[in-house]
Amino acid sequence: MSVRELAVLGTASQVPTRHRNHNGYVLRWDREVILFDPGEGTQRQMMFGGVPAGDLTRICVTHFHGDHCLGLPGVVQRLSLDRVPHPVDAHYPGGDAHYFARLRHASSFYETAEVRELPVLRDGQTFETSAGTLLARRLRHPVETYGYRLVEPDERRMLPDRLAAYGIRGPAIGELIRTGHVDVAGRRVTLAEVSAPRPGQRFGFVMDTGLCDGVFALADRADLLVIESTFLTEDAALAAEVGHLTAAQAARVAAESGVRRLVLTHFSQRYAPTSRAGVPPAAERFAAEAREHFDGDLVIAEDLTRVAVPPRAPVSAAASPPAASAP
Ligand SMILES: [Zn+2]
Ligand SMILES: [Zn+2]
Repeated sequence: MSVRELAVLGTASQVPTRHRNHNGYVLRWDREVILFDPGEGTQRQMMFGGVPAGDLTRICVTHFHGDHCLGLPGVVQRLSLDRVPHPVDAHYPGGDAHYFARLRHASSFYETAEVRELPVLRDGQTFETSAGTLLARRLRHPVETYGYRLVEPDERRMLPDRLAAYGIRGPAIGELIRTGHVDVAGRRVTLAEVSAPRPGQRFGFVMDTGLCDGVFALADRADLLVIESTFLTEDAALAAEVGHLTAAQAARVAAESGVRRLVLTHFSQRYAPTSRAGVPPAAERFAAEAREHFDGDLVIAEDLTRVAVPPRAPVSAAASPPAASAP
């Protein structure tokens, strides 16, 4: 059975805390296993989080601030140590390729694994993956930064009871899929009559950024959106100044974009993790501010937890039921 879920490895911005490791996220989407933004300590967090290095098929780096990339050397070297037999594709901002080169070869190791570098060279660039199209969009941050979005293609699901009702079986099903119709017992049956739409699912990953068009493009109708919310509203001016989002802004993006499940992460260490002098714990404050704008599924990310991609929303068949003339 296919698995679609996010393993959260780390949730801290800038500096790790006692409770939060630097960033790190692994999206498992059927056969595609993508590591996003490996901050310091990611290799060890992968062990705690039950993600073997050999599972990785792809690495996506949004930008080269340390909390998003200082774990690269360990992970890259681990791929070779474990003699991972398949290639691992790596995407990162092409304008800062020298940072990737340094991190990839940060120290001496015996290189056996194949890391294929596929840098992002322009806003809107896409890459084909086994899970669908991976889109990179430019974000607003002091260094070159791209968010990522995975889009599964729309397909149609065959309806066995309809096929049976029309007496379509065996090679006729193949013909129906190939040509969009098939003639049975003197009647033309179209694909729409015996199948239902199976809309593709969408995943968005938005890290360090101020509000910009790219944020909304990445979040658009996402089944699961992972988005930075470094600050609370009390620090909104600072957030705007340094190119970050508040929880309220991230939640408004999700609400306006029709997001189904929202994961807030990349929290500043400035907010106390436990209640202090009548002020609630940071996680509660982030949740409360987000809730004012977003009423879908909300997750305040914690290290070493898993968040499922919500099941595909049920879609009823668009076609009418078999006609009375059907056998
Ligand atoms: Zn960051
Ligand atoms: Zn940054």
